[in-house]
Amino acid sequence: MEPFHTDVIIEPFRIRSVEPIRSTTQAEREKLLQAAHYNPFLLKADDVLIDLLTDSGTGAMSSGQWAAMIASDESYAGSKSYYKLETAVRDITGLTHVIPTHQGRAAENILFSTIAKPGDIIPSNSHFDTTRAHVENNGAEALDLVIREGREPQTIHPFKGNMDIPALRNFLETTDLSRVPVIMLTITNNSGGGQPVSMKNIRDVSALAREFGIPFFLDACRFAENSWFIKIREEGYEDKSPIEIAREMFSYADGCTMSAKKDGMSNIGGFLALNDDTLAARCRSMTILTEGFPTYGGMAGYDMEAVAAGLYEALDEGYLRYRIRSTTYLGDKLTRAGISIIQPVGGHAVYIDARDMLPHIEPLHYPAWSLANALYVAGGIRSVEIGSVMFGLQPDGSEKPASMELVRLAIPRRVYTQSHVDFLAEAVIHVFHHRHALRGYKITSQDRVLRHFTAHLEPLCE
Ligand SMILES: *Cc1c(COP(=O)(O)O)cnc(C)c1O
Repeated sequence: MEPFHTDVIIEPFRIRSVEPIRSTTQAEREKLLQAAHYNPFLLKADDVLIDLLTDSGTGAMSSGQWAAMIASDESYAGSKSYYKLETAVRDITGLTHVIPTHQGRAAENILFSTIAKPGDIIPSNSHFDTTRAHVENNGAEALDLVIREGREPQTIHPFKGNMDIPALRNFLETTDLSRVPVIMLTITNNSGGGQPVSMKNIRDVSALAREFGIPFFLDACRFAENSWFIKIREEGYEDKSPIEIAREMFSYADGCTMSAKKDGMSNIGGFLALNDDTLAARCRSMTILTEGFPTYGGMAGYDMEAVAAGLYEALDEGYLRYRIRSTTYLGDKLTRAGISIIQPVGGHAVYIDARDMLPHIEPLHYPAWSLANALYVAGGIRSVEIGSVMFGLQPDGSEKPASMELVRLAIPRRVYTQSHVDFLAEAVIHVFHHRHALRGYKITSQDRVLRHFTAHLEPLCE
């Protein structure tokens, strides 16, 4: 017999505990959205059918994780659950010191408040927004040095998250190195659409960091997805397992910050891991000040159990194949229907180009916001605008269009099935076919910072 082959995505798990989702009618959703002042952040989650606001902390845990949580040790100091987490992180990263934190940004806070000072410059491929905020909060500058292709939405490149190596070398040769406390690299590059970084690039950044005597840290939130992209796209890695690839990636780094809400497969948690004994001691003192005793940081014992198990589950080949294929599957369906998205599809989200879809809505009438709202009305789908509502308000109170008008569909881990994704794609395509009926919005009230979370809006009349 010919070997059996199918393109159907089979979820590599059975579902033994289910969470009902509530259907609403389109008329009900119109009312609910109006009551939420046309801001999806203000909707109740129970009124959402498919929630793609973020992939952070929204995943489903496994029976193995739940079992480990029941068996947790809640001792204040030196709990068994801490040592399980430490053993898992050391096994995967090879890093010596493991400091648990309540989520990724807490690890960033501890690291940057310990090593960064006013006037410093911290290069990365792209700093994630919380990373940038912590760098800047300590008076330092966050410098993005992603390759040119990483800034071009339609350019296909296998590793659009790569750091621009000549630009990094030039920066290091022309900067007072006492002002560069660390070089960061985000894997995968969240701000660039979940785009991966190649092993060669990680190695090259590491070699430069060593040459100039600067510590090199990974922002490792999606380290498992990055390992998978290396396996399927980089020569020489096709026969390696994801955990072998992860170990090699981390072997080039002196430390990492991690949000366990991503590839820790947990609803909360994170850690800072590093090799330098002196720096680790300073970071531990800071942990006591802001998080808790260093053997629990900001986590309960059961959280540490969930993360210790989740880190391995994220590296499972069957899971990663399903994970990356289902994101690509959604992107391919939209592309085939003629919808313009950021190419190629990254690990955790699909980004729709709303400027391309809705040229009749001008940027300061918020086309991406309009599309996100239409997706909710049509299909009960919650997405997030990454456009002029999020970025348009300037410090002086004026407005400037954002560089792109995007709608992000972020995919929670192990939560939705292929039929959910089929339904979702049909709803997006339905809105696309009726795009000429979509109208712009105006803001009726807003905060001065991060206004997208709380702003009230109204649709514009014809
Ligand atoms: C989510 C994320 C963070 C911050 O982690 P939190 O757990 O949300 O605090 C940092 N960097 C990247 C790349 C992320 O995706």
